[in-house]
Amino acid sequence: METNETFALLDATRAFLAKPKKMLIGAEWSDAASGRQLDVVNPADGAVIARVPEADERDVQQAVAAARHAFDAGPWRNAKTTDRERLMLVLADLIEVNARELAEIESLDNGKPVIVAQALDVAMAAQCFRYMAGWATKIEGSVIDAGMPYLLGSEIFAYTRKEPVGVVGAIIPWNFPLLMAAWKIAPSLATGCTVVLKPAEDTPLSALRLGELIQAAGFPDGVVNIVTGYGHTAGAALSRDPRIDKIAFTGSTQTGKTIGHAALDNMTRMSLELGGKSPVIVLPDVDLDTAAQGVANAIFFNQGQVCTAGSRAYIHSKVFDGVIERVAKLAANLKIGPGMDPATQIGPLVSAKQLERVCGYIDSGFGEGARAAAGGRALDGPGFFVEPTVLVDTTQAMRVVREEIFGPVLVAMPFDDVDTAVRLANDTPYGLGASIWSNDLAAIHKLIPRIAAGTVWVNCHSLLDNALPFGGMKQSGFGRELGRAVIDQYTESKSVMMNYA
Ligand code: ADP
Repeated sequence: METNETFALLDATRAFLAKPKKMLIGAEWSDAASGRQLDVVNPADGAVIARVPEADERDVQQAVAAARHAFDAGPWRNAKTTDRERLMLVLADLIEVNARELAEIESLDNGKPVIVAQALDVAMAAQCFRYMAGWATKIEGSVIDAGMPYLLGSEIFAYTRKEPVGVVGAIIPWNFPLLMAAWKIAPSLATGCTVVLKPAEDTPLSALRLGELIQAAGFPDGVVNIVTGYGHTAGAALSRDPRIDKIAFTGSTQTGKTIGHAALDNMTRMSLELGGKSPVIVLPDVDLDTAAQGVANAIFFNQGQVCTAGSRAYIHSKVFDGVIERVAKLAANLKIGPGMDPATQIGPLVSAKQLERVCGYIDSGFGEGARAAAGGRALDGPGFFVEPTVLVDTTQAMRVVREEIFGPVLVAMPFDDVDTAVRLANDTPYGLGASIWSNDLAAIHKLIPRIAAGTVWVNCHSLLDNALPFGGMKQSGFGRELGRAVIDQYTESKSVMMNYA
């Protein structure tokens, strides 16, 4: 298999990769206090492509101090909302101007196809800043007619105002590094908050490039700070720092719980967007080709490393064989390769650790009696590639059905009646997403309220829009990102009562 070396990179990408990486703390680009660095690996060939500072508690504390100072001193929270909007629009433009470079960085760091990175990750990140820029000028409280029956003769003017929650600690995962940074930084900027962002140790590069663009856009110093480091050290230090007002986390449910406990000790506000095991329900009226393509896209997009990945297919027994046969064929025909190859449809998994984890799950499925209708094997190294895999003969009790794999592994099971499909779909600790495949309008409308998930898609899967709230029920977390809903998560409501009798 070709390595990424085979493919031409922009000069700008080469220059970015070649220069020493530092963290953005206040106005400065800094090394870690310890001087330590961590390796950034290209998952397509296992090569080290950069080294970034390995922050520890001291660096995190400095970044939090910078964000705290920038918040308390007020240049951002007291900025005109129109100035906040304007700068965010400048940043969105800068992301677009540098789209190809950002996409190359993302592809080399994460493994995803560069075409996907540019069309989705980078484009949606720019659009997220633009969408949230609009909210900067539209944050409003309400005027409330206070009754006050116990205060005779009072004349009360009562209203609420929305104020920025303060300093946000953002901890993000490696599956959509730039986009997740945008999802946390954009609402912070729109509401007048300041931020310390910690990207995942596996994929820190696009966040550092974004930091350069944030500086170039002209945001005041300390409004956005970016520290690179491991979760159990830098991430943990951020989540327990009492000067942080809100933690915004996207990642696994287990890590979310650890972070949530630490945050609660300081009553730090938090929004947690966690894991999923999203069901894909295929009703008997479907067109087989359309449904199969939908099922395949739902699981294989981004190598299955998507929190809403449609990883459990419940397919009506009337169409089960026809759909699975087609999904298996699609899976077998997907072109696996390095993200920088324009022909690649499935890139490598993000890391050796993730490859081991995914293969461990596939093996456990085989051990429990599952059979591969497609895939089931890792490719020989040096990259971290695994075949798109479809497991059948699976049962609800198997680990591959119960646990989040976070890889291109689908489990598929037939059902005979909709009540059973609903019961099986909801038989999971998670509740992030679900999709229904059918053109039976009545059946669809009856199903939607019965599915315990933050998002239900119909004849599509994992589609997102900045205007639509996104988040999970059950152990998929709490709070909602995007849309109007996210503004509430980054603001406090202050009630004001004025007696003018
Ligand atoms: P994974 O195990 O696949 O890396 P995680 O949910 O653990 O997924 O990682 C998501 C993010 O959470 C990363 O930025 C990671 O560094 C961070 N993280 C991991 N452990 C902790 C922790 N104990 N405290 C704070 N952040 C953490």
